[in-house]
Amino acid sequence: MKTIIFFFLITVSLISIAQKSPHSHQHHQHGKGVLEIAIEGKTLSGRLEMPLEALLGFEHAPKTNKEKSAQSKLETRLGTIEAWFEINSEAQCSPKSTHTKLDRDAKTKHSDLLYTFSYSCANHGALKEMGLLFFKEYPGVKEVKVELVSSKDQRLIMCSSSDLI
Ligand SMILES: [Zn+2]
Repeated sequence: MKTIIFFFLITVSLISIAQKSPHSHQHHQHGKGVLEIAIEGKTLSGRLEMPLEALLGFEHAPKTNKEKSAQSKLETRLGTIEAWFEINSEAQCSPKSTHTKLDRDAKTKHSDLLYTFSYSCANHGALKEMGLLFFKEYPGVKEVKVELVSSKDQRLIMCSSSDLI
């Protein structure tokens, strides 16, 4: 059971992420995340922004042992990118970097996961699809807006937990 986004593109020369409009902090909505994917040559880079509430069931700084252990479990899980995304194997993508930041807003009390990652894809012309595996593991995730950018394409794809196949 997973949600898949399709790239439908052949990568030749692609615009760089730097050329994208400056990143604006996304509007925080419980259960709803934003995934930005940019494909540039062999490099696929991404940024997932997700309310922590959807992943942990709470978004305040952990106080109890149970909450502390839930957060450390999530952080450990984020170290394994294969648990979050699955790219079609023909593209021969290997993870290059991941970075996790938990962004807590002291004023509003809302918190987000900011997760950035990149892959190097040896056969990037074969990039076809990317499975979003976290929908299954985290039922609190209801919807993800995917912003896909390449030189040929700039698209918005809405993925929802009801799309699980
Ligand atoms: Zn919140």
